[in-house]
Amino acid sequence: MKDTDLKRSMKHRTKIQRLTRLFQSKKAELSAGYQGYHELLGFVDHCQRWGITERGQEKALDGWIDLLERWPFVGGAPTGPLSHQQRQRTRVRDGFVCTMCGRPADEVHHQTSRSNGGRNKPENLTSLCSQCHEKIHQTKSTVNKK
Ligand SMILES: [Zn+2]
Ligand SMILES: [Zn+2]
Repeated sequence: MKDTDLKRSMKHRTKIQRLTRLFQSKKAELSAGYQGYHELLGFVDHCQRWGITERGQEKALDGWIDLLERWPFVGGAPTGPLSHQQRQRTRVRDGFVCTMCGRPADEVHHQTSRSNGGRNKPENLTSLCSQCHEKIHQTKSTVNKK
């Protein structure tokens, strides 16, 4: 192995360790809320087994690290419709149950509605079952579903 190759593989190993650490620390959340989880799992596995051997993989490694560092902000804007990730993250936090009645929750509700300036922040989001969600919007004067 040449010196430069050695340096490169050292650099990669450090990065792979970083990716693995990030992945492990967010694993539960990722498996529940990230659609690309299996792809990521496969990549981490590949890295640990074979290392990084080509340019494309190196780019992918950087990409995954970047994504995991920003997770769970990926795919979620502070305003506008909720992303899949924001929705899932709320449901994972609430244990997939309705915060009002404890039944399984399929829906996510903005406590301060978006029309009143409510943002897609965890503090403003809560998981509800469809019955409670409907009730909450019926009793509110400002009807603005989700
Ligand atoms: Zn409910
Ligand atoms: Zn709602």
